[in-house]
Amino acid sequence: MTMADVHNESPTTFAPPRLSKSKFLSGLQCHKRLYLEIHQPALATPPDASMQAILDMGTEIGILAQQRFRGGVLVKSGFRRREAAITETAALLQDSEIPAVFEAAFEHEGVVVRVDILERVQNGDGGSSFWRLIEVKSSTRVKDVHLDDLAIQSHVVQGAGVRLDATCLMHIDTGYFYQGGEVDLQALFSIENISEAVTERRGLVPERLAAMKAMLLEPQAPVIEPDQHCHAPYECPFWAHCTKEKPQRWIYHLPGKKEIVGQLVRQGIMTIDEIPDETKLSDVQRKVKDNVEWVSPRLDHILRSVSYPIHHLDAETVMLALPRFPSTRPYQSLPVQWSNHIELESGEVTHQEFLHSEASDPRRAWAEALLESLGETGSIVVYSAYEETIIRQLADIFPEYKSAFKAIVKRLWDLLPVIKSHYYHPAFHGSYSIKSVLPAVVPSLGYGDLTIQEGGQAAAEYYRMVFLESDWVERDSIREALLRYCARDTLAMVELRRVLEKKTREVS
Ligand code: SF4
Repeated sequence: MTMADVHNESPTTFAPPRLSKSKFLSGLQCHKRLYLEIHQPALATPPDASMQAILDMGTEIGILAQQRFRGGVLVKSGFRRREAAITETAALLQDSEIPAVFEAAFEHEGVVVRVDILERVQNGDGGSSFWRLIEVKSSTRVKDVHLDDLAIQSHVVQGAGVRLDATCLMHIDTGYFYQGGEVDLQALFSIENISEAVTERRGLVPERLAAMKAMLLEPQAPVIEPDQHCHAPYECPFWAHCTKEKPQRWIYHLPGKKEIVGQLVRQGIMTIDEIPDETKLSDVQRKVKDNVEWVSPRLDHILRSVSYPIHHLDAETVMLALPRFPSTRPYQSLPVQWSNHIELESGEVTHQEFLHSEASDPRRAWAEALLESLGETGSIVVYSAYEETIIRQLADIFPEYKSAFKAIVKRLWDLLPVIKSHYYHPAFHGSYSIKSVLPAVVPSLGYGDLTIQEGGQAAAEYYRMVFLESDWVERDSIREALLRYCARDTLAMVELRRVLEKKTREVS
């Protein structure tokens, strides 16, 4: 029976299904997740286009990493051709002229892995060389999950008879400063030998594997309550399925540190309303528990401190793992878009926007268009300190605009701390994100009708539009979606100010 055969079925045979590296990691996060991935994958929320863009960025980094190993050979058989890939790998390992093998395939104890890079470090007798196993990640440092990732790989590879000299993680070095021309792969990637930590973690693999295999033969998924473990190290795609029966005021929705939630659950408390009054809660947690609207008496005065014309500014950025423009580093925030809704004293509102939709350095065009739009007068309402950070960075990059940017920073007026300190609505559910605040305060204006609904998705879609998508119709529709999303953020601030002003009049 193949893996494809066991999908969508309850386990009816006594042979545990074959596992992959990613299934093993899923099982480490949660046995229920692994069970559902194997037996009921249709219950998962499918990845969206932006998740695909993030995966594509990772693939691009993987291909680039291979270029650092001259003469390396790729195992051409794809992931669905397991046996062919294993045979192809074995032949390449035997050829002592080949210095590195990419996507090498191995199977041991029912686990199949594909190794990003196997580098030959020393030729032995009869082709039994020593190898360096290298996992490529687009992250910027070694994380705990990488140890488990390499532990299962080295368990399988060594179990298949390959002699490993070291296990390493190859990741992006954010210290690399790209100056144009060809990317320096030696400087872009850092290779860390983490053999010792991996060996330690490898000792746990047999027991963990055995537990997973036994669990997978059970007729039902294990009963595991959703909590913090569902979000780390990865967001579990079964979250919607596992939480669909939870009450609206489920205790897990209490914001802030989750230790308190764990303590309350151990006391048998399942909803926020059941929290005993004497429980020590943070200010926000108390507001969520009280669940009533609150308007500070000072809100009116603070809202009146803006001056006309009132600009409402939101900026979007993209962070590229692979720097593409001179004088940038990996993962540097590059501003690519802004929206500005301008409210005049007459009440009239106009809108200006900018989106850099070409694969070129966006910073100068972004900055010059913004300076023109913001002019020299009026408050500039933002929602968080993010815009200030971007503007300060640009002031350092373009000294000719330093004083203009300094003047802009002085005009910034942040609505987020104002709401945090002076207003609360039960529908915030403890979150002051504009995505939670807007639909609560202005129910007619949310984000639900938009294709792009949050910043991470906007960045991924931007990357897809500029660097991946070749169909101009699709590019155009992403562009439209990005413009609508950013414009909604700034219109949101206009409406939030107006509705909050009205509320202050109602309570006075
Ligand atoms: S949502 Fe949580 S409990 Fe449910 S399968 Fe995923 S990790 Fe496990």
